[in-house]
Amino acid sequence: EELYGVKNWGNGYFSISNNGEVLVNPYKDNEQAAISLMDIISGIRERGLDMPVLLRFENLLDSQISLLNESFRDAMNKLNYKGDYRGVYPIKVNQQQQVVEEVTKFGQRYHHGLEVGSKAELVAALSLMKDKEACLICNGYKDEEFIDLGLYSVKMGFKCFFVIETLSEVDIVLERSRKLGVKPNIGLRIKLSAKAGGHWTESGGDRSIFGLNMSQVITVVDTLKKENMLDCLKLLHYHLGSQIPNIRDIRSAVLEATRVYAELVKEGAPMGYLDLGGGLAVDYDGSNTNYINSRNYTVEEYCTDIVEAVMTTLDSSGVEHPIIVTESGRTTVAYYSVLLFNVLDVERFEEHNLPDSLDENTPEQIKNLFDVNKSITQKNIQECYNDALYYRDEIRDMFKHGKVSLRERAFSEKIFWNTINQIAKEKQKLKNFPPDLEDIESAIADIYYCNFSVFQSIPDSWAIDQLFPIMPLHRLLELPKRNAVIADITCDCDGKIDHFIDLHDVRTTLPLHELKNGDDYYLGVFIVGAYQETLGDLHNLFGDTNVVSVRIHPDGSYDLVKEIHGDSVADVLTYVEYDPKDMIVSFREKAENAIREGLISASDRKVIMKAYENGLRGYTYYER
Ligand code: PLP
Repeated sequence: EELYGVKNWGNGYFSISNNGEVLVNPYKDNEQAAISLMDIISGIRERGLDMPVLLRFENLLDSQISLLNESFRDAMNKLNYKGDYRGVYPIKVNQQQQVVEEVTKFGQRYHHGLEVGSKAELVAALSLMKDKEACLICNGYKDEEFIDLGLYSVKMGFKCFFVIETLSEVDIVLERSRKLGVKPNIGLRIKLSAKAGGHWTESGGDRSIFGLNMSQVITVVDTLKKENMLDCLKLLHYHLGSQIPNIRDIRSAVLEATRVYAELVKEGAPMGYLDLGGGLAVDYDGSNTNYINSRNYTVEEYCTDIVEAVMTTLDSSGVEHPIIVTESGRTTVAYYSVLLFNVLDVERFEEHNLPDSLDENTPEQIKNLFDVNKSITQKNIQECYNDALYYRDEIRDMFKHGKVSLRERAFSEKIFWNTINQIAKEKQKLKNFPPDLEDIESAIADIYYCNFSVFQSIPDSWAIDQLFPIMPLHRLLELPKRNAVIADITCDCDGKIDHFIDLHDVRTTLPLHELKNGDDYYLGVFIVGAYQETLGDLHNLFGDTNVVSVRIHPDGSYDLVKEIHGDSVADVLTYVEYDPKDMIVSFREKAENAIREGLISASDRKVIMKAYENGLRGYTYYER
């Protein structure tokens, strides 16, 4: 457990069994409910589904929604807060129908609502929302159609709020509401001066592209007063950014926003709702620090700090406690999904043995490289590293000019890699090592080729170097002897993972087991439920993976409740505007021509056409 840090990042949901397999357990303390992911894989295999598979655990979603709501409820009870909490789930974080449907189902007992940022999301939300006590928050740019739909939903009894993000939106909201005869619930999104650290915090701060500055807030208030519509102003919203690692940033933003809230009440607006946006971070690396892949607070601390900050500010100005809304997406869905895939092949880093001495007529540069190799000590690793790179480049140049043969170049590469390997070993013994050698381990790591696409399934790993926990799902009683980096099957040089979580640092290699004579070896990428599914793209035409939803029961039994087949080759080609029917016709003509040219027989044509059509029907990933 220590090697892969499961205890630290697993949030109590993931652990390792006595027989060395990864377990999932939404009931945390009820050990009986734990299920091995390997059991689930064999169930999936029996049903004929291929890897990669995205597993979604219904209960983990349920459990995270409860955690958020219960933590706010506890904090409010403990501090004697007079208002209430209403969470909303931002659809953009994972828009899949099944996900949003489950959020509304599990959230109903807490009146947990939805946040939408576009017309399409509003249309989706209205088809799934049943609970009229829950909030439906409309952020984003809104056109007439968007606003009309929101107003009709108000008429039907939904608690739908239009959050004004730009001044130009006010007039159109007022105009449409007059026309349709429906009073809107208006919210204002403000830009705070508070800014947070982290990957995704551009949406906060003075220079953020969304929201109103303070003078614009006053303009809107004056417009509403003039139009006799100030009674529609009920909500104040800000969004500081996602994955905010430091609780201090969260606290100072709440304090600033609550001051604005109190001032709006003073202006005569009814208010009642304070919407703090997203930002509640996930501890991806388990370090519990204010590092970007982590956070230095728990969900309970987040809730207590918010409630306390709101109370402190409002009590001093005698303003009633509002309903606190948060738009927590990442925390709600991140744990929910786990990506599973198999290893297809391994390129091992081989330790080459070198002769004691070289042939007399070996080219000078190769002799020099060999001398570097023989002179490595702990003290001169930086110098040897520089020299090795220098001679390697010289030898490559000489090869280009015909002064070194292919065999000689191949031999020089053996010397080079033997040198790098020795340097890496010496580096391990040092407490402080030269910065150039920081990533040297990944240069001599094995490459594990795995059946998935980084771009489709964990795009943030590629786009912003986000770290996700990755580990083998079995053989965890055996010490993994290989150090590896992971390559996907997109044949793109960016289609790799060479940074891994670590409690104190970032690791450049992942310890993995040697493949055993043809046995399958499975890895899992954890905490991938937030943002990854919808940001994924069709790089090299690798499509959506198979998805299997699992419901775990407290007695340790489980159901595979839903199976969604991933894209076929024909599906992804259709996305990029091919027509599979035309493609078959066109390929058939080519086969017909080949018969005419005497290259294939009619019965060859039958077999070839079958292969082509099977290819179109097939999964886009490696099938066995
Ligand atoms: N609300 C708004 C307006 C957002 O833009 C986002 C995403 O960045 C969220 C909520 C969700 O944030 P998080 O996933 O950090 O909870």
